Amino acid sequence: MTCVECRCEMERRYVAIRERMGGGDILVENVPAWVCPQCGQREISGPVLVAIEALAEALAAEERMGGGRGSRPLRVAPVHA
Ligand SMILES: [Zn+2]
Repeated sequence: MTCVECRCEMERRYVAIRERMGGGDILVENVPAWVCPQCGQREISGPVLVAIEALAEALAAEERMGGGRGSRPLRVAPVHA
């Protein structure tokens, strides 16, 4: 995997993704991604992004049923994809 920005070799890392949602942000930890050690460019594969989207939607639905939790970011379990 080569960085699109600087052509550096990217590293496999687990990162935290912040996703904007109706009631606030969610923080998804341990997301597998390619990160460029040179410029910090991140590449996350399609299936992983889809999994995060699905997770955000499920959480939003749950929130509508169970009341809000304020604007505090919610930490969620690792995504397996
Ligand atoms: Zn780069």
